[in-house]
Amino acid sequence: MTTVQPDRSIRAASGLPGLRTETLSRTYPSGDGQVLALAPFTHAFPPGLTAVVGPSGSGKSTLLNLLAGFDEPTTGQVIVGDTPLTHLSEADRADFRLRHYGFVFQNHNLVSILSAQENVEFPLTLAGVPPRRRQDRARELLALVGLEGRAGHLPSQLSGGEAQRVAVARALAHDPAILLADEPTGNLDSRTGERVLGLLQGAAATGRTVILITHDRDIAAQADHHLSVKDGEVSLED
Ligand code: ADP
Ligand code: MG
Repeated sequence: MTTVQPDRSIRAASGLPGLRTETLSRTYPSGDGQVLALAPFTHAFPPGLTAVVGPSGSGKSTLLNLLAGFDEPTTGQVIVGDTPLTHLSEADRADFRLRHYGFVFQNHNLVSILSAQENVEFPLTLAGVPPRRRQDRARELLALVGLEGRAGHLPSQLSGGEAQRVAVARALAHDPAILLADEPTGNLDSRTGERVLGLLQGAAATGRTVILITHDRDIAAQADHHLSVKDGEVSLED
């Protein structure tokens, strides 16, 4: 398995901050009442790959959105290294996310007017990495995901599996400590799904915290750690 080597020239902080939650919960208004989408959850995510499984509507995406700081908790907090994410302003949170997080979604969310290469460069562009360095880094990552021959292709010219591999390359571009993936293999055939899983495992093997939501029991079984969510209650499976 190819592992992803941390790129010290791009990585700003040394050492990889860990991710933990303290009595993290979320309720949503629903009609006259409220729905408890996530019951209070306290957990220190170990480095490596954690699979999160659970039925549709159980609260998996709610958890991931809170971990990312996309959504604000009803109680508790998310702490990255020494930083309580929840206490940051929205602008600081966006900046923090840019530096420390990578994301892969079910639908690859590539920018349709940018080439594969430009999509992978995008987080580095936002981070102010000079063109030459970000081009080199994007080329290296496209090679890592086996797509060096597709650098100039637009997302519409890629297969679903190729686009998802570009999305993984993009998520890794700035060498994030935390990688969050919501059903990244949901739209892929099992062989391509395994390939995407291999890329996430490679990132996990270098000490990152990788959290993978999946419906696929075979994929989940290959993770280092397991969480299961049911009716908003998260439990440890190992
Ligand atoms: P999963 O990802 O496991 O399918 P979600 O986290 O998306 O589940 O949803 C958990 C519960 O919270 C569901 O009952 C869902 O309807 C509800 N929910 C999720 N997001 C919202 C929202 N923005 N507003 C209201 N209810 C929501
Ligand atoms: Mg979901």
